[in-house]
Amino acid sequence: MPHDTTLIGTIVAGLGVAFLMAALAQRLRISPIAGYLLAGILVGPFTPGFVADTGLAMQLAEIGVILLMFGVGLHFSLKDLLSVRKIAVPGAIAQIAVAWALGIMLGLWLGWSVAGSAVFGLALSVASTVVLLRALQARDMIETEKGRIAVGWLIVEDLVMVLALVLLPAMFGDRGDEGNSTGLLQSAAIVLFKVVGFVAFMFVVARRILPWVLHWVAHTGSRELFRLAVLAIALGVAFGAAVIFDVSFALGAFFAGMILGETQLSRRAAEETLPLRDAFAVLFFVSVGMLFDPHVLLEQPGPVLATVAIIVVGKSLAAFALVRAFGHTTQTALTVSVSLAQIGEFSFILAGLGVGLAVLPETGRDLILAGALLSILVNPILFTLVVKRVRSDAPPEPAAAGDAEMSAPRNAGVVLIGYGRVGSHIGALICGRGDGLTVIEDQKDMAAAARASGATVIVGNATKESVLRQAGLETASTLLIAIPEGVEAGAIVRRARRINPKLVIVARAHSDDEVDDLVRRGADYVVMAERETAARMAERAMRVRA
Ligand code: AMP
Repeated sequence: MPHDTTLIGTIVAGLGVAFLMAALAQRLRISPIAGYLLAGILVGPFTPGFVADTGLAMQLAEIGVILLMFGVGLHFSLKDLLSVRKIAVPGAIAQIAVAWALGIMLGLWLGWSVAGSAVFGLALSVASTVVLLRALQARDMIETEKGRIAVGWLIVEDLVMVLALVLLPAMFGDRGDEGNSTGLLQSAAIVLFKVVGFVAFMFVVARRILPWVLHWVAHTGSRELFRLAVLAIALGVAFGAAVIFDVSFALGAFFAGMILGETQLSRRAAEETLPLRDAFAVLFFVSVGMLFDPHVLLEQPGPVLATVAIIVVGKSLAAFALVRAFGHTTQTALTVSVSLAQIGEFSFILAGLGVGLAVLPETGRDLILAGALLSILVNPILFTLVVKRVRSDAPPEPAAAGDAEMSAPRNAGVVLIGYGRVGSHIGALICGRGDGLTVIEDQKDMAAAARASGATVIVGNATKESVLRQAGLETASTLLIAIPEGVEAGAIVRRARRINPKLVIVARAHSDDEVDDLVRRGADYVVMAERETAARMAERAMRVRA
């Protein structure tokens, strides 16, 4: 078979094999990430058969990083970022120092130079944006305090790495210049100057222009143009930030998101980038798998194990101790430390640079890649073990504050899913009559509106069984599913039916096929929006004629 290494081949192989492996992972009930990584190994250069282009795959993965960070920026305000600075700045720096020291010790023990060991240690100290954000997003945690600390921490790490990436070549690139501290200071000063320049540019110039552009586009009424504008802004700012200001793509995208997050259009902007974001995040994991040479596991089991231990155990203990020392709860400390107990894209860049500068031995890079793959693989397992999955914005039970998942179902009446255009009207009617209502809603602003009208609110994705149970579905009498997405509604109906066979389920649909599907899955009554609208409009027309 000819080795097709074109862009299309890489995308098709990456997504296609990832899909097959993720489907397998789903059947085996393990994290899809394991499937994506395996897919990468399969299409990578170290296994027989088709070989996709590693360089292209890594670039595609960068697009995933950009879109993820843009999405996080949309939900993040400058206030959120500053609110965690007291813990994120010292925390990230201390954690980097611990991981760095452990990495240096391992490197020296393996007989490498001090400089090589230092690069190795640095590569182990920085967590992957994609892995962290995916883990938090899957558990609806980005906007919780734990999530904010983890993201703030990540941004500080990001900045430290930007500095390291610039300083490394300055230290080792020009051999004649080695050890020249004036040169180093100068390089560091230039980096800081550029970072400050970038932030200033974003807040002074881009903050005036970008929201204006987006508003203008929204008023044209063209959805296509809006989607294009969002993508152009996210990718354009990230790329411009990297090229002009030498900061990372991730940081550029984060700031673009944060600026648009201040506008009314942030929710729509987030929705528009979702499908692309998810697809490219998958390619990120595939690209990690592609870089991985499984032989290293057989040839260097001891060093691989030590590397993974530094990433998973050493870094976590340091982060845990730090977060606890700042007075946060054990649960917050666990979440933050598990979020950061992995390495990814920055580590690969550092490893590549280190080998390129002849500072880091090739074995070092292999160990970093093995450490990345294994730590990413165990990350979802760690999360499941130590972190509570759903969060409740309802007032905590007095006996079990912060333990909402475990608390008894608190509703025996009506449960409503979705508080948007349809759900909010239902909520107003039910709450207006003084009846009890539990709302499940995954957007913060909508959840706040539901709370304001008097409902008990569970913030989370209703397709998850744990969220449905938390809303007290076992004992509820009626479930109203007011979300527009037919496929998701179908999955919810099936799960709800399993949880409570006696429940009366009323669902919303937008086509006859959806109606059939929802009824087949166990809905008792399905309201087809278009048919109801038609009936009302016809009724109006007939009344006018009469
Ligand atoms: P609308 O399309 O205006 O009726 O809004 C639907 C609402 O349902 C939005 O506020 C969404 O955030 C919410 N929603 C959609 N899917 C889910 C889900 N799976 N779980 C919880 N809320 C959802």
